[in-house]
Amino acid sequence: MSESIVLELARGDITTQQVDAIVNAANSSLLGGGGVDGAIHRAAGPGLVRECSALGGCPTGQAKITSGHRLPARWVIHTVGPVWHGGSQGEAELLASCYRESLARADEVGARSVAFSAISTGVYGYPIDEAAAVAVHTVRSTPARVALVRFMCFNDDTWRAYSALL
Ligand code: ADP
Repeated sequence: MSESIVLELARGDITTQQVDAIVNAANSSLLGGGGVDGAIHRAAGPGLVRECSALGGCPTGQAKITSGHRLPARWVIHTVGPVWHGGSQGEAELLASCYRESLARADEVGARSVAFSAISTGVYGYPIDEAAAVAVHTVRSTPARVALVRFMCFNDDTWRAYSALL
């Protein structure tokens, strides 16, 4: 259990967040995509994809870190969530790994405040209630030096799911 980690919810766009690190729901190429990934790359500018292209991609459940380029956040943590296949293909463990690995990357650079997008809950189809439960449980049970975690709620369903848990 993290000692005194503060968990909070916020509506809106992760790219405007004034935190040390934001967590991108990337795809395994790390070369950009739609959804939150596209929004982050647009806001960060072309330096981000240049930096990402040197990373050699990222397996599902893992996370890699870059600088934030033109974003207010100093770092972007790119994690690759599982595609939802009904829940029997290890999706929950892979999603939990995304949150643990992202916190580990944050700790490695000394980031104290981290905003997470709702990993896998867009194009990858992970049901929001289940995904939010994994996110909150994993962050609460992972030892980390991160002091503040903000869960970004981009739509009403996401807000309702996290609100029911926090
Ligand atoms: P995935 O492929 O992992 O499902 P998506 O980008 O399709 O990733 O969706 C992940 C979540 O990010 C969804 O809940 C979506 O509503 C949300 N999202 C999309 N754009 C933004 C944004 N600019 N800021 C925060 N969250 C966003």
